[in-house]
Amino acid sequence: MEKIKLGISACLLGENVRYDGGHKLDRFLTDTLGQYVEYVPVCPEVECGLSVPREPMHLEGDPDSPRLVTTRTQEDMTERMIQWARKRVVDLEKEDLFGFIFKSDSPSSGMERVKVYNEKGMPVKKGVGMFARIFMEHYSLLPVEDEGRLHDPKLRENFLERIFTLKRWREVLEKKGSRGTLIDFHTKHKLLILSHSPKHYQIMGKLVARAKDIPLKELYQKYQTILMEALQLKATPKKNGNVLMHMMGYFKGQLSSDEKQELLEVIDHYRQDYIPLIVPMTLINHYVRKYDQPYLKQQVYLNPHPLELQLRNHV
Ligand code: SF4
Repeated sequence: MEKIKLGISACLLGENVRYDGGHKLDRFLTDTLGQYVEYVPVCPEVECGLSVPREPMHLEGDPDSPRLVTTRTQEDMTERMIQWARKRVVDLEKEDLFGFIFKSDSPSSGMERVKVYNEKGMPVKKGVGMFARIFMEHYSLLPVEDEGRLHDPKLRENFLERIFTLKRWREVLEKKGSRGTLIDFHTKHKLLILSHSPKHYQIMGKLVARAKDIPLKELYQKYQTILMEALQLKATPKKNGNVLMHMMGYFKGQLSSDEKQELLEVIDHYRQDYIPLIVPMTLINHYVRKYDQPYLKQQVYLNPHPLELQLRNHV
């Protein structure tokens, strides 16, 4: 499989770029996810011309529009960082990134809940790192996460599902697709989309139904925007449970009452967080294969990302 390009805060790869000359190596990102991903490292503080080691800095002032200031000498780095970041995000366009993994809590790289100090020196965790803010404004639909949040299995699953779906979508774009290609993509992703957002599922269904009346370029742009918005919403046990029940409906005529009862129990246990999603999925997959169910066997939802990442093994 061709590797997926993700931007990443350089210190997470073990590069010694932090203010104290250290790093924040994250083994999941390098050793596990790294098998599928080609990283494009970015260290805003070093790339904007600061040295290693350097004086630490933090955010100050209005949390919506803070200043980036060194903590001891109070040197204001705001303009320097903004000028550099605006150029860098444009420069990154040539990398065709599928997303970005930020270092949490950093005044330059943190994507949320970064400390911003008021005039009394008291912090509120409401800020966004300078570079992260400019990146997210420039690439508003690209999946982004920080390494701290990626330790939460549900957030990790959601982020990586978005990345792998975006990869499949870009493969469609590369083929300079027709309406038929888009409809085929949509058909295969129906249950995946439903697991994230029944509302977006409906909207996308209507869009695809009108496909022949919409200029091709506009159709692709609209579809991509709604797809990315849908996947931003997390698939919950309740939403997944509904999709599993929907899938069970395809075996009405084939399963014995005992088998139906067993599947219902497994889905119910999953909904109650007693067992991970992989358990009902494995059982459904078994029936899809056994009965060669034509609609379900093409559904990406059954297998949306590499099994080795174990993204559906959590409760
Ligand atoms: S958090 Fe960002 S600015 Fe700080 S060392 Fe890591 S990559 Fe560089």
